[in-house]
Amino acid sequence: MGSADSLTAVRGSTPPRTLPDAYAVGSYTTSGSPGASRVRSVPPAPLVPSSDVLSRLSACAEAADRSGEPDREAVAVLRDSGLLALVVPRSHGGAGADAVALNTCVEQVAAVNASAAIMLFQRCAVTSRIVENGTPAQHREVLPKLAGGQWLAASAWSESGAGADKKNLSTVAHRTPDGGWLLDGAKSFTTSAGLADVYLVLAQSQEPPESQEPRAGSPASASSSQDTGYGAAGQTFFLIPGDHPGLLPDTSLRLTGMRGSATGFVSVRECRVPDSARLGATGVAASIIARVRDSGATLGAVAVGVAQAALDAAHAHAARRGLYAHQAVRHRLVDLATQVESARAVVERAGRRTAADPGLTTLHSKLAASAAAERVVADVAQFLGSAGYVETHPINRFGRDARAVALMGPTNDLCKELVSLPWNR
Ligand SMILES: Cc1cc2nc3c(=O)[nH]c(=O)nc-3n(C[C@H](O)[C@H](O)[C@H](O)COP(=O)(O)OP(=O)(O)OC[C@H]3O[C@@H](n4cnc5c(N)ncnc54)[C@H](O)[C@@H]3O)c2cc1C
Repeated sequence: MGSADSLTAVRGSTPPRTLPDAYAVGSYTTSGSPGASRVRSVPPAPLVPSSDVLSRLSACAEAADRSGEPDREAVAVLRDSGLLALVVPRSHGGAGADAVALNTCVEQVAAVNASAAIMLFQRCAVTSRIVENGTPAQHREVLPKLAGGQWLAASAWSESGAGADKKNLSTVAHRTPDGGWLLDGAKSFTTSAGLADVYLVLAQSQEPPESQEPRAGSPASASSSQDTGYGAAGQTFFLIPGDHPGLLPDTSLRLTGMRGSATGFVSVRECRVPDSARLGATGVAASIIARVRDSGATLGAVAVGVAQAALDAAHAHAARRGLYAHQAVRHRLVDLATQVESARAVVERAGRRTAADPGLTTLHSKLAASAAAERVVADVAQFLGSAGYVETHPINRFGRDARAVALMGPTNDLCKELVSLPWNR
């Protein structure tokens, strides 16, 4: 049943991997003082969850699913686990994990607690955007807090009216006379709403995109705002602390699955931020979003974890009820395992980024793994017979959680659109 023990074997099968540290610049330290080496004396952050972390996350999953309340216990476990340092470069106190390691870790967490896994995934996604697009000052300020687990990050991109492709945002950002910004709008489906310490807010900025010149000190600022199929020209990202005046989370949204993930609303009303809150150049968020898939990090990993948990539940049931004696049962379990292994393989391939177009593989991995998870969970639910039809059986939570992956951004429909859009140009 996705127990911590059964996952230890999965964990052992994929060696942890780290990125060469492109950010190992001497002046980036937790203290912000050039040349200080405090970060290097800290023991390396873990790349995989310990069995203790997995069993603690497993222990709180069911209660959070029942209550539908934000799972503060899971967040506390994640903060303590060291896993929030995963994709932070080592020079900033992180583990410097690559996408294979990230996907593996997310899969293992999802197998015990899918809500915690999407909180971890979204948090790592925001971290990666900061690593790629942040200024040195933003790196110094934010990355050590993210690495140390003091800061949980969330992405507030979606809106009820903006749709899956984020083309018609109602959240706007106006320049203020002092050079800052005034944001106004409402976000929906923000995972970790109310729990996060910093939100990456997507807004339609009301001024022309910046020219080709990246902001001073900003690595790899995007320069183009052409239609990328996701997001629109003139959109800008802002990093806004959770306790900033004008930013208001609301966790009244009641989801069918991922119920511990605190996926809710975040409004920004009369929310004034300095220009230093801007992540990346003005008006080019769509280009930043378009590069996300190239990272190889995929929500397909969440789907694989949930599918593995369902498969484990099937084995536990077969063992308990003496069903291995039936060849048909054994073969059915092999068919299920084949689907899980295939999904895991495509997720791993996405993480390796060795395909001719790694971004395409990432999109395919989400499509393949989320479909596999929904199929596997449905088959296992049938296999469990009446036992699985009892409301409290975890297979029902797995089914509701698995369904969410296809709906999360980019939605599976949009993945297909992003893959096929160039064919029609
Ligand atoms: C559990 C969960 C957690 C989430 N966490 C976050 C988060 O942390 N941050 C965040 O910003 N968002 C989050 N989301 C939102 C998610 O990213 C989706 O983008 C958003 O839910 C899409 O909204 P919609 O389905 O209402 O869009 P709609 O646009 O209303 O889509 C309706 C249907 O049309 C399809 N569709 C729409 N546009 C296109 C298109 N151009 N091409 C093809 N098909 C299209 C969609 O796939 C969908 O099936 C989360 C969602 C869920 C369920």
